[in-house]
Amino acid sequence: MPEQASGPQTPTSQRVGESRLPGVSRIVAVASGKGGVGKSTVSTNLASALHALGQRVGYADVDIYGPSAPIMLGVDGQPKPADSQGDMISPLEAHGMKVMSMGFFLNDSAPVVWRGPMVMSATKQFLHGVVWGDLDYLVVDLPPGTGDIPLTLAQEVTVDGAVIVTTPQDLALADVDRSVSMLAKVNAPVLGMVQNMSGYVCPHCSTRDDIFGGRPAEETAAALRVPLLGEIPIVEAIREGGDSGVPIVVGQPDHPASRAFLDLASKVQVAIERRAGASGSPEPDEIIHDKSRGVVRISWTDGATTEYALRGLRGWCPCATCQGHAGEVTFVETDDPKLTGAEGVGRYSVRFIWEDGHSTGMYPYDYLRQIADYPECKPS
Ligand code: ADP
Repeated sequence: MPEQASGPQTPTSQRVGESRLPGVSRIVAVASGKGGVGKSTVSTNLASALHALGQRVGYADVDIYGPSAPIMLGVDGQPKPADSQGDMISPLEAHGMKVMSMGFFLNDSAPVVWRGPMVMSATKQFLHGVVWGDLDYLVVDLPPGTGDIPLTLAQEVTVDGAVIVTTPQDLALADVDRSVSMLAKVNAPVLGMVQNMSGYVCPHCSTRDDIFGGRPAEETAAALRVPLLGEIPIVEAIREGGDSGVPIVVGQPDHPASRAFLDLASKVQVAIERRAGASGSPEPDEIIHDKSRGVVRISWTDGATTEYALRGLRGWCPCATCQGHAGEVTFVETDDPKLTGAEGVGRYSVRFIWEDGHSTGMYPYDYLRQIADYPECKPS
């Protein structure tokens, strides 16, 4: 009797519908496993770089525990009501971008003692209670970690992509890994990671020095199983820009660090548009594990059905553990693999869980369609 595998729904019930803010085309969240890695520095410069690339940009700083937009973007004050009822407020403006920050509403000296429900309602206000106008990108600076705010964000609106900020010093990746998994679970597709403070660049001779050592960016990205979107060096001018309210991308657009941020912004744009295009592609409707035949059968939303012998499905596992970190995906033989489950990861891939404990393989939908034609996947 065929058995229904547990997918492709998300593993939690926080299914996010297509829910867009009026006038806002794309929402990009910037996240990190812990504080102090330069998440706000990266997000303010990423937003500025998107603006420099000709995009209409909004910036929502929902990091209630350390709101940094007022200082880093040099903007402060109380946003004004946008209508006579006072239901909506207008964002402030900085460097050509619309800006909202939890910092506009917090007293500098008061510690933040908000409880979960207050945090959630404040986050909703930031999304639905602000007249953002027409934006190509709304960049959201999330608090570090996996609290209520990212969850609320993903429940309220469609997040088109998330960027994870790490540093070479994140030697224990558990925190970052938790953030990546949380974002995937709430359907916020992780576009990739950017390694900040990636080596020191001498302001006098421009020599780069990995003074802190640490883990190379490619290795971290491979360990997290996400693409590497960029590396930002430690540069005094980046800190000075943040301290003075003029991001380096705005103040010194020709600085090599600004070029690194512009390059990051281009990659984010490409990744988001690629995903937006991909979301029109077929998705699994039903995944059936036919144990008696040793076959997984997937029915797709475009009406197609594909079948996979377990040997082929396991052998074409695309994960870094099976494939190493470089080159093309190759077939890796496993003796008599047995499948125990399947679950949807984000909106684009399925994770298969095997009896021997292997579960790191995330198979993008288009990859699953492709390998169905490979001889190893054909049911005998
Ligand atoms: P987070 O948002 O992760 O807490 P911040 O963006 O506030 O971190 O950065 C922490 C400090 O590190 C700030 O003083 C910032 O100016 C500095 N900083 C961040 N990235 C860099 C960098 N690449 N080069 C130099 N200073 C940096």
